[in-house]
Amino acid sequence: MSKTLIRGAKVLGGEPQDVLIDGGTIEAVGTGLSAEGAEVVEADGKVLLPGLVDLHTHLREPGREDSETVLTGTRAAASGGYTAVFAMANTFPVADTAGVVEQVWRLGQESGYCDVQPIGAVTVGLEGRKLAELGAMHESAAGVTVFSDDGKCVDDAVIMRRALEYVKAFGGVVAQHAQEPRLTEGAQMNEGVVSAELGLGGWPAVAEESIIARDVLLAEHVGSRVHICHLSTAGSVEIVRWAKSRGIDVTAEVTPHHLLLTDELVRSYNPVYKVNPPLRTERDVMALREALADGTIDIVATDHAPHPHEDKDCEWAAAAMGMVGLETALSVVQETMVDTGLLDWAGVADRMSFKPARIGQATGHGRPVSAGEPANLTLVDTAYRGAVDPAGFASRSRNTPYEGRELPGRVTHTWLRGKATLVDGKLT
Ligand SMILES: [Zn+2]
Repeated sequence: MSKTLIRGAKVLGGEPQDVLIDGGTIEAVGTGLSAEGAEVVEADGKVLLPGLVDLHTHLREPGREDSETVLTGTRAAASGGYTAVFAMANTFPVADTAGVVEQVWRLGQESGYCDVQPIGAVTVGLEGRKLAELGAMHESAAGVTVFSDDGKCVDDAVIMRRALEYVKAFGGVVAQHAQEPRLTEGAQMNEGVVSAELGLGGWPAVAEESIIARDVLLAEHVGSRVHICHLSTAGSVEIVRWAKSRGIDVTAEVTPHHLLLTDELVRSYNPVYKVNPPLRTERDVMALREALADGTIDIVATDHAPHPHEDKDCEWAAAAMGMVGLETALSVVQETMVDTGLLDWAGVADRMSFKPARIGQATGHGRPVSAGEPANLTLVDTAYRGAVDPAGFASRSRNTPYEGRELPGRVTHTWLRGKATLVDGKLT
């Protein structure tokens, strides 16, 4: 394989350095490295990060290829600077057997744009009644370590306890979509001032917080590890902070949209803002940013949820929940966390690459940018600022809440084990 010299890149936002890639590996990092025999990429002060890792992506295949496929989803991922994504299990059929997770894993291998690590369902058919074949999925070629019924909450405490006990045996983790189902029946948006004014069914913060409180206590009781998906309320932050101070093995994620958008946007009745968990208040947004900065929230995860336009371009009540996120995540994080002074680029690398890779055990990802490491890298033009144009998305879906919105930062290059998947903003 060929050599590539990335010249003058601010590695993790530090002083400009050269990074030499040979084959699939970083051969050297330093200044004034020889370009002999190498293709040169002039980084020109752009920021070089380890390839991003998304612990929470919906790739929709098998079953909803009209909204996304593994191929289009991994192309979207590479466009957004990702080199590994974890694919949620709520496909058709559900990824609740070794057969389905191996199918998704193989499709990922064939795509060549991004590593795909399937997440296995916790319960059969996401029905919450019977544990799925967690051991068989772990033993399969896909080597599943993260299990989630995401889209639905594992609301039965006994099932949750058993799942935590089961994955403990092989060091896996259960990722909980915290939503008490009875408290959110008919819920259309965050419960608060705006929902009262609009007369839409409210989704109370306590529906999320009560499940998180229960699950951190269950994790402590069992001595297992739990991961909380898409934290959206200030109260959830408080519970996770308390659990961590108590030594409970809990990790948590926040989505880019929950770091930027509030329920005030629902006043437009534009279903592009309909998402699960719902957009919350300004106070929640500020608490989430602070928690991501201080490490209470471990990672940013996109919850990339593609939907075809017929499922989103309809009245609010009938619209599907979710937003695409892979191609805008880094820009939103720059806008909300870096440009506000809450995180530096090393902090972004930590929250979007190192830690998600560690939580999901994504081998070869989330590694330091240093000699001998796999060349999974992304180059970001942080000086760029421009309006989001969904027409240019690689994703099959367009349901972004940022259409026309100016955001900073643009991923120009992505390398997966030394192979360029994105060059000058174009997929290879
Ligand atoms: Zn979810």
